Amino acid sequence: MNHDINIKKLRINCFRQSKVPGEFMLQMRCPGGMIDAKYLSFVQHIAETWGDGSFHIGTRQSLDFCGIKYEDIPAVNAYIRTYIDEIENGVCQVGMEVDEHGYPTIGARNITACIGNHHCICGNINTFELARKIEPLIFPSHYHIKINIAGCPNDCNKAHLCDFGIIGTAKIDYHPERCIGCGACVRACEHGATRVLELNADGRVEKDPCCCVGCAECVKACPAGAWTRRPEPFYRVILGGRTGRQTPRTGKVFLNWASEEVVLAVIGNWHKFSAWVMDYKPEYLHGGHLIDRAGYKKFKELILDGVELNPECLVAEDIYWHETEYRSNFNVKPMRMHHHAGPSNG
Ligand code: SF4
Ligand code: SF4
Ligand code: SF4
Repeated sequence: MNHDINIKKLRINCFRQSKVPGEFMLQMRCPGGMIDAKYLSFVQHIAETWGDGSFHIGTRQSLDFCGIKYEDIPAVNAYIRTYIDEIENGVCQVGMEVDEHGYPTIGARNITACIGNHHCICGNINTFELARKIEPLIFPSHYHIKINIAGCPNDCNKAHLCDFGIIGTAKIDYHPERCIGCGACVRACEHGATRVLELNADGRVEKDPCCCVGCAECVKACPAGAWTRRPEPFYRVILGGRTGRQTPRTGKVFLNWASEEVVLAVIGNWHKFSAWVMDYKPEYLHGGHLIDRAGYKKFKELILDGVELNPECLVAEDIYWHETEYRSNFNVKPMRMHHHAGPSNG
């Protein structure tokens, strides 16, 4: 084994140690999961010149190349300089210095996005354009934050399983004078959403204001244009979801009906919040753990500092996450190493 290899330094350049000694995996960022097809020539060249001839699409939409030899890393870094510059500065407007030493940060950590309204009939927002607006707020940085964007409440991109999940929503308005009382919207909400619509005795639609998720299925179903969506997009922000061995959990709603300005301002406060929690000494700690460390109330205070909420925006009073319970779903006795007299499931 080569003891001269500085793993820590390589991780800073988005290279990951392999199970094969002396080999590494490069992770190239692909913000919002969308790049021009012309960049596939970079992919092919890297994989065939320095890698093992293949590439993997990372679970966070990075482009991953395995089998890169330690001694080839400087050549790879020099080669990807153009890619980094064009994607980070050209596309995402990150405004960072790019040199021959590759990525300046510890991890690739793209903001991920589903295809959104670029293609999808359900999409309420342009997901990767939002990703590109958020990137300059959090990249480059050694603070660890995972952000997933979903174009609609279907949440194909698992906004519920990351630090900040952003879901595009539509705020809808009802125009009773146009309504013919056909009930199509009620059925659409019944079958595809949260069942909040009802036809009343007068043949008009009533909405339970509690739980509309802003999917706009009712708008699509209405033959009379009696439901309209407001032109500006709205967002639901889901907080504190995560995977991992120890305490996986689903995120909970933090903001509802937030404007784009609010979402950007909140994420713009992430560095400040992280620095405060870590006492201004960056550590490789996941975002969700920082939120836990601060506690939701303190998190809310710091992350909303200076943010002017749009009039529609709702902020969760409190959040109670539920972590995965490994034991309670199984009919087994507690492990013997626990000596306390806890309840037995056996
Ligand atoms: S989350 Fe919505 S917009 Fe995105 S791919 Fe799924 S259905 Fe389409
Ligand atoms: S936008 Fe609201 S009312 Fe319309 S289908 Fe979706 S959940 Fe139901
Ligand atoms: S689908 Fe349109 S016209 Fe039919 S009940 Fe709903 S709002 Fe009225």
